[in-house]
Amino acid sequence: MPNARTKLFGVIGDPVGHSLSPVLHNYFLKKYKLNAFYFAFRVVPANLEACVRGAWAMGLAGLNVTLPHKEKVVELVKFRSPEVNLLGVANTLSMREEGVAAFVTDPAGFMASVQPMQTHFRESRVVLFGAGGSARSVAYALSKMGTRELTIVNRTYDRALQLSRFCTEQLGFRKVSVLGMRDPGLNDHILGAQALVNATSIGMSPYVDYTPLYDFSAVSQNHFVYDLVYNPVWTVFLREAKKKGAKVQNGLDMLIYQGLESLQIWMNETYSIARNELNALRIQLSTELQT
Ligand code: NAP
Repeated sequence: MPNARTKLFGVIGDPVGHSLSPVLHNYFLKKYKLNAFYFAFRVVPANLEACVRGAWAMGLAGLNVTLPHKEKVVELVKFRSPEVNLLGVANTLSMREEGVAAFVTDPAGFMASVQPMQTHFRESRVVLFGAGGSARSVAYALSKMGTRELTIVNRTYDRALQLSRFCTEQLGFRKVSVLGMRDPGLNDHILGAQALVNATSIGMSPYVDYTPLYDFSAVSQNHFVYDLVYNPVWTVFLREAKKKGAKVQNGLDMLIYQGLESLQIWMNETYSIARNELNALRIQLSTELQT
């Protein structure tokens, strides 16, 4: 039962009706026996500033921030983590007495999710699809894991070029190439890469028949293929890559680990999740996706 000490957490976004965050976080809150609840709040862009001020004024404990607010929210807070300053996006707000502090937990979530494959990324070349906020977070995570060369593939060339400059100037990549999605040279880049990562929303429900890659002929068992999309659990991108023998992974573990990282920030505690629990949680979240 809630009492006067119950903490309130939530996710803000628009739309937010299909977010898995309430299921994920209420699982954590129960597991770690915290006197707290987590809800989803639809906040339209025009109300974002009022929402952040109001959440702080009411003493909410913390908020996750999802599309379309991840960039705009950065301007609305008093404190920013170094990663928020670097990447220009935030997905976690912590309400402190002195003001709201912003963090971004996607890079840590991505790194934790590929932990068993860490060595795959050392001195690696990666083909990264997308140039939005999560592509920036993934590029940062890849740079920390030792990836040296990146091929950015995106629909909007200028956005890819912008990310490519950021990757060379701020993240220290040795070489960054920019390609369009139908570039005939893409197969050569795939052949020279160890991993392919989809950080676009292509293939996400309801557009489940789409894929950021059209020709899978260069994909092989030598590749690790990762899709940030987790709804559906098996995207066309992952299904086709698996047919070619690649090791594949979807974005569910990243979602879980970025959520856990948010909780750690809010509670100023360290929490862990055992392998068998991770599996149970994956199943619970996948089931939720089908409801
Ligand atoms: P974003 O900033 O809006 O970027 C969207 C990206 O997708 C851009 O590169 C955009 O290309 C591309 N795109 C969207 N629709 C397209 C289409 N019809 N054709 C071609 N390209 C298209 O979004 P984001 O925050 O980076 O999120 C991207 C995806 O990552 C989403 O599916 C999100 O759910 C997922 N994600 C997952 C996790 C996780 O924990 N697993 C965490 C964060 C994000 P343009 O530049 O050309 O517009």
